[in-house]
Amino acid sequence: MKIKSSRLETIAATLNQYPVDDLPEIAFAGRSNVGKSSFINAVINRKNLARTSSKPGKTRTVNFYNINEEFRLVDLPGYGYAAVSKTEKENWAKIIETYLNNRKNLYETILIVDIRHKPTENDKQMYDWILSYDFTGFVIANKADKISKSKFKTNIDIIMKALNIKDRDLIIPFSSEKKINIDIIREQIENIIKY
Ligand code: GDP
Repeated sequence: MKIKSSRLETIAATLNQYPVDDLPEIAFAGRSNVGKSSFINAVINRKNLARTSSKPGKTRTVNFYNINEEFRLVDLPGYGYAAVSKTEKENWAKIIETYLNNRKNLYETILIVDIRHKPTENDKQMYDWILSYDFTGFVIANKADKISKSKFKTNIDIIMKALNIKDRDLIIPFSSEKKINIDIIREQIENIIKY
């Protein structure tokens, strides 16, 4: 996949702000600070298009990045930030649910986790939620530059067990910092939008 152009097309707080056409979309979910914005920046080869925020948990919007005017990468609001209120958590769930329920052109929703840590209860809930929408269940194990390659297998085993994943191929170690497996991810994205 060659990135010819990329732009932040829409920051949507509500359904009526979503782009109206039916370009294929791939959405990314994950804990605040897990590196979703950095992931999108790395994939599209831009330093700062998807803003990496210093205030985790403050994003309450669905951000649509248009790539090559052919498809979109969609950054869903992050979860699991301890300091948010119950109302804010419910609001978060509503934002994600509205998106998942109303996007016929959504081809995959992919979970991003931190390769260093056992997935949290929130990660598990998000993953089960993704599966309940019949998505394949791809997981990106991010920040892989922070551990040695020899630990990949052990850490992926932990992720598989926690999320009840049987197929190891569903989990891709990744690093936006060191661009680990960036080509595999781009290829995967290309395959998904060709479904
Ligand atoms: P988001 O809240 O999920 O969008 O997370 P960000 O993309 O803003 O990243 C949160 C923090 O993790 C930032 O300080 C990033 O620089 C850092 N980060 C993101 N991805 C990686 C990675 O692959 N490796 C390392 N070492 N740091 C990362």
